[in-house]
Amino acid sequence: MVENMLLKDKVAIVTGAAQGIGKAIAVALAREGANIVIVDINLEGAKATAREIESLGRGALVFEVDVSRADQVNEMVKKVLDSFKRIDILINNAGITRDALIVRMDESDWDKVMEINLKSAFNCSKAVARPMMKQRSGKIINIASVIGLVGNVGQSNYAASKAGIIGLAKSLAKELAPRGINVNAIAPGFIKTEMTERLSQEVRAEMLKRIPLARFGDVEDVARVVLFLVSDAAGYITGQVLNVDGGMIM
Ligand code: NAP
Repeated sequence: MVENMLLKDKVAIVTGAAQGIGKAIAVALAREGANIVIVDINLEGAKATAREIESLGRGALVFEVDVSRADQVNEMVKKVLDSFKRIDILINNAGITRDALIVRMDESDWDKVMEINLKSAFNCSKAVARPMMKQRSGKIINIASVIGLVGNVGQSNYAASKAGIIGLAKSLAKELAPRGINVNAIAPGFIKTEMTERLSQEVRAEMLKRIPLARFGDVEDVARVVLFLVSDAAGYITGQVLNVDGGMIM
């Protein structure tokens, strides 16, 4: 059974893996044999994810790290290399919303979203680029959003940050392709997590009308696409954005 695993002994860093989409990605990668580095500001949640991964027989390292802080990210990557000697996969998943119409949006709401959603992906990608280049292999996936493709009222900061990580993924795909590193983005639509639980019933009902597959996504819908993109089956795919949105955006 172990022989059939897609990611046996690979090392994957997943940011924002204490809950939601990040946790589902971490567990899905571990089920396929990867050891997981869980990076989050929510230490308790991160430890719970680690327990689940260890129960699958895989290694799990937990780091209480704010991914918008380059010093903390660099320290984390150094420790990962000390422990595992390699980094095969980076999933830039941590993200937040601070919604407001532009006329009411505080500068701090703009800055916070840019730092946590966009600068974080720069910090983490930069930190893993050198070890991946030396290995001549690696997979980086940025978890963007359909909002980064089409925009949304009240989400100018979020949309700009998500469009930003799509541009980052495409540039890194070109830069790192000669070293055997694939970089892609996933744009989820409406996925059932704590982030979307906060939305009102009216907004949810309105959203559902716009989804051809007529259901909200599960975290596993995103995790399965991550598994595909980090597998050999997607070896010839780089610089792409894959929408996981039930057909919301076409
Ligand atoms: P979530 O449930 O809020 O989980 C995000 C995790 O990231 C939380 O554990 C959060 O900790 C952590 N985090 C926040 N700021 C951080 C920081 N500075 N450093 C490290 N970790 C941090 O979100 P989700 O719904 O799973 O979303 C995951 C990603 O998918 C996000 O990038 C989101 O934009 C994207 N996405 C989600 C949807 C959706 O429908 N849910 C759709 C499109 C895209 P705290 O809880 O303590 O803040």
